[in-house]
Amino acid sequence: MADDLFSYFRSRFPEDMEKVFLETSDGRIITYGNLLTETGRLANLLMSLGLAPGDRLAVQAEKSADALLLYLATLRAGAVYLPLNPAYTASEVRYFLTDAAPRAFIHDPANESALSALATELGIAHRLTLGPDSSGTLMAAAMKHGSDFTDIARNADDLAAILYTSGTTGRSKGAMLTHANLRSNADVLCSFWRFTAEDVLLHALPIFHTHGLFVGTNVTLAAGASMLFLPRFELGDVIRLLPRASVMMGVPTFYTRLLGAPAFTRDLVAHMRLFVSGSAPLLSQTHTEFTERTGHAILERYGMTETNMNTSNPYDGARIPGSVGPALPGVEVRIANPETGKPIRGDVGVIEVRGPNVFGGYWNMPERTAEEFRADGFFITGDLGHIDERGYVYIIGRAKDLIISGGLNVYPVEVEDAINALPGVTESAVIGVPHPDFGEAVVAVVKLNAGAGMTESQMNSQLAERLAGFKRPKRVLFTDELPRNTMGKVQKKALRDLHARLFS
Ligand code: AMP
Repeated sequence: MADDLFSYFRSRFPEDMEKVFLETSDGRIITYGNLLTETGRLANLLMSLGLAPGDRLAVQAEKSADALLLYLATLRAGAVYLPLNPAYTASEVRYFLTDAAPRAFIHDPANESALSALATELGIAHRLTLGPDSSGTLMAAAMKHGSDFTDIARNADDLAAILYTSGTTGRSKGAMLTHANLRSNADVLCSFWRFTAEDVLLHALPIFHTHGLFVGTNVTLAAGASMLFLPRFELGDVIRLLPRASVMMGVPTFYTRLLGAPAFTRDLVAHMRLFVSGSAPLLSQTHTEFTERTGHAILERYGMTETNMNTSNPYDGARIPGSVGPALPGVEVRIANPETGKPIRGDVGVIEVRGPNVFGGYWNMPERTAEEFRADGFFITGDLGHIDERGYVYIIGRAKDLIISGGLNVYPVEVEDAINALPGVTESAVIGVPHPDFGEAVVAVVKLNAGAGMTESQMNSQLAERLAGFKRPKRVLFTDELPRNTMGKVQKKALRDLHARLFS
């Protein structure tokens, strides 16, 4: 078998090619046989555009079955898939297209006026359009091609995709992912989470991000399993389709939203095999409440664009609330002193990882790449955490979110946990804000449960019993909603910017 990702998927295809690979929420069915014919047409089209191995195909399209097939066709054509968040504006897209210099660019026909001029200005050779309902020029052009296609051979270390990081600080960076990176992770996760051809994954995640594109899709293909493919997380659709699924993967907000729905009952999910959470921290309270409601313990795992998945709570054995579990087989995880890089035991430090899952570097940024790897090949994730004696990893937060107040380190998650445990609190985000005396002051932004009333001073006096003075917020601000990105991550930078002048 060749080393590339699509050859690996082929080796796992079901014998019966009439088996459903994907069914959309409006009833479109794609069998494994259809997968081959449709991606064959698309791959022939890509070749006719002159895409050579290593050429980038940039795609900014709404989630759809066609967009997913385009990803697989790109693999077959030996090119490099480069998905972009459909929410990016034309001026943001300009940066990605300039940086990645794709040979072809596929975008939503709805953005024709803004993006056609941009693509012309940047000299991109080919531009086609793809709407969520198969509209646009791409699928029409593909229909003119035959479905027979001989896959272009690629080696394990060749690039399969470039995914830009969400770039919460500074410029977004293009993480170069090889066939070996994606293939090894799909293989490990498929067996670690006991996926089989019988599984049906409820897929409601976006497909421009590692979670929905690689974890969800690649694991399904590695098992020769099926997916129920939703354009987005829509509570009513998810509840309607859960009875037909065996596994669901989600970001934590999926689970809090399900818990908020009276129709989400133990009976509804009694048949389910597995619920997986990742991309943002799952509150211990959510984990516990979910188990109480359904009898299922959510399996939390930890990964990032650059590394694919690194750790996972076990399939059998304790799934510990607040922990992302031990390192996956074949992956090494250690904690190091952020400044010196010296490995440390027991204490909090920066999480570093090494393994076949870890990317090759940032596109066009060799210096930046060099800065983020240790000499022995470990990648410095920028997440702070610690590992317990059983090997379970606990994430404390991003290093850049660490607050240094009056010279003392304050880990936001510790303060958030104390606040979230107070009656009436839904959730909180703790940030550091410039302060004339302390350098940075601890500030809490808190969302209360509907109908709950609490003042800043009431909260402060309750926290006095739980937290040392230097960790307690200098200000508590109440909000109706915490700002989050599509992956459910709280946007702390946005909060810091908003409240930057609180003490000036
Ligand atoms: P992304 O590259 O968008 O996937 O973001 C990766 C980052 O998300 C990681 O570096 C972590 O900061 C965060 N992350 C992912 N999974 C988890 C998790 N289970 N718990 C806490 N943070 C997580």
